[in-house]
Order: sequence, then C-alpha cells, then structure tokens
Amino acid sequence: MLSGGYLGKILRVNLTTKKVAVEELPEQIARDYMGGAGFGIKYLFDEVPKGIDALSAENKLFFSCGPLTGTSAPCASKMTVVAKSPLTGAVGMAVTGGYFPAELKFAGYDMLIVEGKSEEPVFIYVKNENVSIRSAKTVWGVNTFDTQSILKEELNDQNVRIACIGPAGEKLSRMACIINEKRAAGRKGLGAVMGSKNLKAIVVRGTNDVPVADEAAFKAAKSTMLKAMKESAHLYPAFSKAGTPMVVDVTNAAGIFPIKNFSATGEKDYTDSLGVSKNNEAFLGAGHCYKCPVACSQMKLVKKGKYAGALSDPEYESMYCFGGATGVENLDSIIYADQLCDQLGLDTMSTGMTIAFAMELFEKGILTEKDTDGIKLKFGNDEAMTSMIRKIAYREDGIGELLADGSRIAASKIGRGSEKYAMQVKGLEFPGYDPRGAKAHGLSYATSYTGADHNRGYAFQEIFGIPIPKAYDRFASKGKGELAMWNQDLRTATTDCPSMCGFLLDMALPAIAAQNTAAMVNGATKFDYTAEEVVKVGERINNLAKAFNVREGLTRDDDTLPERFFTEVILDGTSKGQSIPKEEFTEMLNEYYEARGWDKNGIPTREKLEALGLENVISLFLEMKLY
Ligand code: SF4
Repeated sequence: MLSGGYLGKILRVNLTTKKVAVEELPEQIARDYMGGAGFGIKYLFDEVPKGIDALSAENKLFFSCGPLTGTSAPCASKMTVVAKSPLTGAVGMAVTGGYFPAELKFAGYDMLIVEGKSEEPVFIYVKNENVSIRSAKTVWGVNTFDTQSILKEELNDQNVRIACIGPAGEKLSRMACIINEKRAAGRKGLGAVMGSKNLKAIVVRGTNDVPVADEAAFKAAKSTMLKAMKESAHLYPAFSKAGTPMVVDVTNAAGIFPIKNFSATGEKDYTDSLGVSKNNEAFLGAGHCYKCPVACSQMKLVKKGKYAGALSDPEYESMYCFGGATGVENLDSIIYADQLCDQLGLDTMSTGMTIAFAMELFEKGILTEKDTDGIKLKFGNDEAMTSMIRKIAYREDGIGELLADGSRIAASKIGRGSEKYAMQVKGLEFPGYDPRGAKAHGLSYATSYTGADHNRGYAFQEIFGIPIPKAYDRFASKGKGELAMWNQDLRTATTDCPSMCGFLLDMALPAIAAQNTAAMVNGATKFDYTAEEVVKVGERINNLAKAFNVREGLTRDDDTLPERFFTEVILDGTSKGQSIPKEEFTEMLNEYYEARGWDKNGIPTREKLEALGLENVISLFLEMKLY
C-alpha cells in the first residue's frame, strides 16, 4: 500500500462527457515508473490510440507529479505534462515548476488526466475533492498573465494556482506552451493540445499536506542533499546569482553558442552583449519555485529605450534563440520577446529558432519582403524578430500563418531547398548548444524521444567539464553512445520522475544523483530503491517512450541531426574546425543503439524489454512484425 509521497489518486476529467472520476494509482506503477514523466509516458502508451491526430479529441493530457512534489524536499517543485506532440508526432513531454505542481498534490492528486474535447471554451476548477468544469468565455482570447488574474478575481481566491494557454494555444500553434504563474511547460506544442480541447485553464487549490512515510529517513536524506548543494562550487556561488543566463558566458567560451541559425557559430563573442554582466544591469530581483533555496529565476526590467517597461526572466534558452540564433545583440529586445512569448503562450525556443530559420531564408533570398509582409527579416534586426512573435501567435495571414507550426512544417510549405535550414530533430527546434563542439550533446538531441531537447540528456560533462562518471573530450565521438544513454537515463530517473529540478543534477548532485533520489524517494514513500534500480526506472521509461515513437512510425532515420552539422565546420572560435561527418555520426548512433540493447534499426530487443518488464511492448512489436 502506498504510504507517503504519493496521494494514491489520479483525477480524470473527460471534457466530452463532462465526467469526473477519481482512480487509484496502482502501487506497481508507482514502483516501476516512480512518477512525473514515468506516469505520463506509461499512461500515454497505454491509453492513447495509435496514429491519432495529436490535435484531436482522442489525444490526452497527463499532468503528473512525482513522489517528492509538495514535500519539503528542496527543489522538488516540478511536474511533467505529457501528450502526443502535435509538433513532432512523438512523445510530447515538458516539465514545469513554480507552485502549480505542489498545489495539485495539496489538492490530493498525483496526476490529472484530461481527455475528450469540450464544445465551448472551459476551465477545470479543482478545489480538493470538488472538481467542476466551468465556462472560460471571459478569458478566451486573453493572454496568460491576464487570464490568471481574471480567474483569481472571478473565483474570489488569490491563492489558486493556474496553468493556462494564451492566444497561441487557442489558435493551435504547434509551438504553443502552457503557462503557470510565469513558468512554462514550454516545448512540443502541448499548449495546442489544450487549445484543441477548448481547455483554457486548469485552476487548482489544495489544502492538504503531502505526508512522508519515514520522517527520520527523509530528514536524513534531505540533510545529505542540502549539504551537497551547499558544497557545490557552482550552485550558490554562480548559478543562484546569475541563473541560467550564466551559460551564455560558458557556451561562448566553448565556441558553441549558436549564431545566425547555427550558420556562424564562433563568429563572434556575445558575452559582453548578452552575458552575466549585461544581464546584471537589468536585474530586478530573484524568484523561486516551491521550496527552492536556490532561486535561479532572474527578473529583468528594461528601464529605458524602445522596449522600456518590458519585464521578464529570460533563461539562457531565450538568450540564444532570440539573441545569437537571430543575430540580435540587444538584451532589451530579448527581455521583451521573452515576456511576449509567455503572455501569448509560445515556446520561446521553437519560436526563436523558427524566426532564425526564416531570417536565414530571407538572407538567402528564399523568402522576400513579399512573403514577410514587407519586413526586412535580416539577422540582427531586433524589431523584425519581435514583430514576428505576435504574427505567429495569432497566425496572422502571410508570414504568421507560415511560421506558426514551427520550422519543419514551414519548410515543407516553402520548399525550394529550405528544409536544410530548419534546425530541428523530429520537428523540435534546436537548443542553444552547437553539437559540433559537444558531441554527446548532439547525439542526445538525435536520440531523445522528444526531439532536439537539451533537457532529456544534458551532457554536463561537455558543457561544464564535470568529470562524472569520468572526464570526456567534448570533441571526441568515441564513447559518446554510452555517455548519451547514461545522461538520458540518469536525468529521467533523478529529475523527470521524482520531479526534482534538473539544475540540481547539473550543478550540485551529479556524483550522487541516483543515490540521492533513492534516499529521498525511499524516505518519502518507504520504497526500497537502490541507486541501480533508480537508473533502471529511467531506462525503462526511455525504452517505453521509444516504443511509443516506433508505434507512431518513427524510425532510425528520425534519429539524426540537420545536415549542416554533418557538412559544415564551425568557422571560428574555440570550436573552430569541428563538425560531425556523417560516417562519424553513424558510428556514434550505432554505439548508442548497442549500449541501449537495441538492434541496428533502433528497435529495443526482446531481451532488453524482458529485462525491463516491458512485456506489453514485446506484444506490440510482435503485432508489428518487428520480431
Ligand atoms: S533552481 Fe530555479 S528552476 Fe530549479 S526549482 Fe529553483 S527556482 Fe525553480
């Protein structure tokens, strides 16, 4: 019997039938999948039919917490949102923090499943065991910040926590995100899945505690974790002070900060214009998620100039995509772009990279002013960059409609050789690390079940030089198959499942991540995970997610990188001369499949699936005649 950490309940809301049900969380699922991404992917695989349109009523949304969410564990503030992604057609999984996830636990639920489709715009209101579906007419068309304020007023409760979509989600942009407070379940178009269900928001208020099963063990684990955090050379001395924008300095020094849609990486150094010192000039105050002593969120205010009044907390990812990737060096415009994306409900990364893609096409004459509503969409033009955001969110006729579904779909409409400038994997636009100078990072983008996703296998060994499990040469390709797998499984098991902030893994806990998760989760739940079993949970989930993608028709050909990285070298900077020739990439991919126990086509072998207890996947693959 589940005795702590978990509440043991799943809330299921069907927007077609208006039926609300509470189900038990099976203990075996809790043990095998732990929580968060594990629950979401398990239920996605079991419940979402093969081949459905991700924007149809048949898709489902899984908002799932981990066993640590809502406890006093430091930085366990996260929740994952899972659905079939309308951007990639693969598993769509995004993590959000802030306060909404803990509130869902306080209301009594480990997971909320939303299915079906409402005929009218609605929001779901959860107040402990009282759950209702209400009209969202007053907030349909309203931006995410105002939606949260209006619903709080309407419900006469300033303490509710709200996850909602903006106009981009309503317009079904496949780059739409879900915003709670100022946090985002940002990537893979999950906001469009909400929009397709006419679901504007989920409002939650909970008044219960999340019990832990073994107070003494939990307390001991927590104090070990806090000690490791305190002793970290990076967490408080650097990260807590500068937040993720500190990575601008790191990637520029490493020569992997993407410039001009990755066509000019290394061309110049953006540290002065977008790095820590510049960011500090606009710093207003720090913010944090639930029970987080780190407070990495860095609120910035533009005090003067044409973007005066813009207020936001752009992460590193907004710096590279609205900055280097578009050739824009104006931090004020990035703060403004970040705020606009949050308000309109757009993923900053996919949006920025899709604009960067369009800029490269404009520079090459593939797009002209006729296509861009007269806008000179050249690299470095900050006004052109910011003007695109609103057009995309509202799918404005012309360039807005063309770019609203991301770079892969836009390229398929434009043709004329534009496909090779879409910097994406499986349809998901690239993160801010040029893989030519960090090859395990690149392999992870190629093989992640969500597409080019830095959060599914962040290679901190290559980015920060942390020698765990051992030191790696970031330019080398040998050994990177094993490393990519190690990073993916560890990250899944120690951050995405217990719902722990991923920054802790990179900055403070890499040496003890699996042990730490075992100790914390065991204390909270009275489970008896070993560190090895924790990692095996991650491996199980990565295999199940792969199986979902195979079922949806993805193949080895989808585990690849944009052609640019195979054929063009980095021209300047500290990664000068680096590329990933196709043969080298093929060897890396083979090594990765072998490390995973997958065949040469990337299909998990029967033996591997048996070892992970995934007999249901074996049945599927037999049906598909893959064995
Ligand atoms: S480190 Fe940052 S993202 Fe992580 S929990 Fe704390 S405030 Fe949230």
